[in-house]
Amino acid sequence: MSVITDKLGRPLKDLRISVIDRCNFRCTYCMPKEIFGRDFIFMPKEQLLSFEEIERLAQIYVDLGVRKIRLTGGEPLLRRDLPTLIKKLTEIDGLEDIGLTTNGSLLGHMAEKLKAAGLQRVNVSLDALDEELFQSINDSGIKPERVLTGIEKAKEAGLEVKVNMVVKKGMNDKEIIPMAAYFKERGIALRYIEFMDVGQSNGWDFSKVITKKQIFEELKQHFDLESVEPAYLGEVAKRYRYRGTNTEVGFITSVSESFCSTCTRARIAADGKMYTCLFAEKGFDYREMLRSGMSDEEIKDAVVSVWSNRTDRYSDERTEESAKNRSKIEMSYIGG
Ligand code: SAM
Repeated sequence: MSVITDKLGRPLKDLRISVIDRCNFRCTYCMPKEIFGRDFIFMPKEQLLSFEEIERLAQIYVDLGVRKIRLTGGEPLLRRDLPTLIKKLTEIDGLEDIGLTTNGSLLGHMAEKLKAAGLQRVNVSLDALDEELFQSINDSGIKPERVLTGIEKAKEAGLEVKVNMVVKKGMNDKEIIPMAAYFKERGIALRYIEFMDVGQSNGWDFSKVITKKQIFEELKQHFDLESVEPAYLGEVAKRYRYRGTNTEVGFITSVSESFCSTCTRARIAADGKMYTCLFAEKGFDYREMLRSGMSDEEIKDAVVSVWSNRTDRYSDERTEESAKNRSKIEMSYIGG
């Protein structure tokens, strides 16, 4: 097995694959209706990588050292027959872990099928428990109960579940404590995600970010927390445990404490473009390579060439200026 490293010595170990650019939510901070409205043109089916193409790329990346793959989107559960893809991916020798990030709205129906296909873990995004607030954030009429049922079904099916909550000032700060209490009681890990300046559509600025430090201070007033050592180098979440329990709460601090120096992740968008950073401006087109008859070895060489020239450390260098002026791709396209 080869290990390839980039210009800053970071190995390629994780791969996020977006399987679709569509979503059934219109979260105001991610896919606002004013931009992703009825007239928005999503990718036609033939532009999406096929399952065979995804499997082939996944195998190539595993041969190059990738050990973890996470499927995302858009909303990955909107991709027809997703369990078939998962089953195929589990058969790749050397791949140790497959995860899925979902808004949970379709998880109730899908959990058992996903587990049967070999999925181990699912991260469910949920930004509020309050019905009215949740509906105003997702802007698509979906109630939190539906996501909570999805979470329950996923647990019943034997999937490991974590919940991710993006915290944005003025949007859902009031939900920080209710979310912690709810998931603590059920023994489910909750992670707070700092609102990031991905894409061009979400009107980001620093004043809308609630940092880990601020959330932590608030949590400490209600709960007794102890820190948990990272499970491996490059673990993204800063982890804590409610003292006396095994239940964790964590933080994804991509704004206040960036983690570029240990970022080992590549991303493939639904149309087969590879990105070496969530905040990238430019991708590398693998779909074209796959469809033009290139051999696995040739595609491998192309991946190695892109990764070994990687210098990205956007979050380390972020300023209000760079956040505004850079033309970044959208989260729904690159896959969160
Ligand atoms: N539809 C799936 C879901 O909801 O989990 C997968 C894609 S979604 C883009 C992945 C995650 O990115 C979600 O948890 C979403 O809340 C998060 N996200 C989107 N825009 C974000 C932003 N500007 N800052 C932080 N997280 C964001």
